[in-house]
Amino acid sequence: MANLNQKKYEAKEDYPDFSKHNNHMAKCMTAEIYAKLRDKITPSGYTLDQAIQTGVDNPGHPFIMTVGMVAGDEESYDTFADIFDPVIEARHNGFKKNDKHKTDLNPDNLKGGTFDEKYVLSSRVRTGRSIRGYTLPPFNTRGERRAVEKIVIDALGGLSGELKGKYYPLPGMTEEDQEKLIADHFLFDKPVSPLLTASGMARDWPDARGIWHNDNKTFLVWVNEEDHTRVISMQKGGDMKAVFTRFCKGLGEIEKLIKSKGHEYMWNEHLGFVLTCPSNLGTGLRGGVHIKIPHASKHPKFDEVLKKMKLQKRGTGGVDTAAEGGVFDISNADRLGSSEVQQVQCVIDGVNLLIEMEKRLEAGKSVDDLIPK
Ligand code: ADP
Ligand code: MG
Repeated sequence: MANLNQKKYEAKEDYPDFSKHNNHMAKCMTAEIYAKLRDKITPSGYTLDQAIQTGVDNPGHPFIMTVGMVAGDEESYDTFADIFDPVIEARHNGFKKNDKHKTDLNPDNLKGGTFDEKYVLSSRVRTGRSIRGYTLPPFNTRGERRAVEKIVIDALGGLSGELKGKYYPLPGMTEEDQEKLIADHFLFDKPVSPLLTASGMARDWPDARGIWHNDNKTFLVWVNEEDHTRVISMQKGGDMKAVFTRFCKGLGEIEKLIKSKGHEYMWNEHLGFVLTCPSNLGTGLRGGVHIKIPHASKHPKFDEVLKKMKLQKRGTGGVDTAAEGGVFDISNADRLGSSEVQQVQCVIDGVNLLIEMEKRLEAGKSVDDLIPK
């Protein structure tokens, strides 16, 4: 809850010190915006200071430009629109207040998508979905978090065939099982990242957190990590088309099950699917591969190529890790204003280009003509 003593101080006396900061929130925030929003609360009681705490405590990130703020509930994006809107515009390529988002979850619209497995080690697509009427992980109460867990696992119990699976709650898991699931890239890491802890979303860990997955771990749902749910399709090798096809099918079925129990997702035509971190608004989709490109990644124009192809790089241990041995996690940078199919298509086209570059460089040839203008 808001600190009631705050009333005794003027907004300018509470203004954070952003002198060392390099994140979107810190860059967009002004003393005027802060003063206008400091004393507002959402219907469930979330405040501006709670929303920006992660960006105040984490000036920057070594590998990516972070957003620096989170939503505590669906209404945060309206109540604090004076700061969320410019942050969204900066993070999402100029996406404006009146722009509309698009959805396309038809895998038939994808072109190509099977990669050379000499380079592509695994393929994955994930998104998040939030249950309307419940506050988000940075702000929810224990009771709410447990209620969300129950809604989600009740719904997932209705999946059948290839998607049929089981729920593994974190509190009931042995340390070894948990470590193995993390090491094998199936499970979210423990909330050690200050980006997560400062936002409040690691409170009460591991209460009401868990992972649901099918037997061969190709379709997985994370419960109550950064979002109410994260839905993931993944498999070893380079068949992104198969991964996306399973992703679309599973998402569609889960949505039907959630609705059949009288619930709905947070969604609107401007922001698409509403999630905790503004970076994930829109499709919430991060489609990516683990790809071995020791030569291409050392090319002086590597970062420029990624940017032009609208791709993001990470290490293979997750967002807070650096790449090792020339193996990168390469995924779409955009999530808002373009559809799921368009974003996965970006990954397919970009990864094909990186593979072509790698092959040429391996053979000692020039890649100059491959660099996008
Ligand atoms: P997310 O965007 O899903 O939160 P993170 O960067 O936090 O992604 O990583 C979460 C986990 O997913 C990590 O263990 C990471 O290694 C794994 N992961 C991400 N992309 C892939 C991929 N293409 N293949 C295999 N594992 C992946
Ligand atoms: Mg993550």
